[in-house]
Amino acid sequence: MDADGDWRLRGQEDFLLGAELVLKRYRAYREDWEHDHCAFCWAKFMDPDFSPEHKRWVGEHPDVLTEGYATTASHPQGADYFWVCPTCFEDFRDRFGWHLSDTS
Ligand SMILES: [Zn+2]
Repeated sequence: MDADGDWRLRGQEDFLLGAELVLKRYRAYREDWEHDHCAFCWAKFMDPDFSPEHKRWVGEHPDVLTEGYATTASHPQGADYFWVCPTCFEDFRDRFGWHLSDTS
């Protein structure tokens, strides 16, 4: 399959080629950085335990993800910096040569 025309690809090779990823629950990165997006399709990740408002939002928006594939401490920008949704992980894992880790 030729995926070069895929709208989700925007040069992520620069920071995700050969990366080590781990499947985990999304957690707020910082107090003022409490959600994230898939590095490919921009699907939204949220932590329902961050606040009652977040829990309600996640409950009302079934498209919001609460787990996905995150970079680990081996990534130059560190653990949890980039997130990939399960769909994009399956679609691009071969192209990007990702390693799946079981520890973060
Ligand atoms: Zn995605």
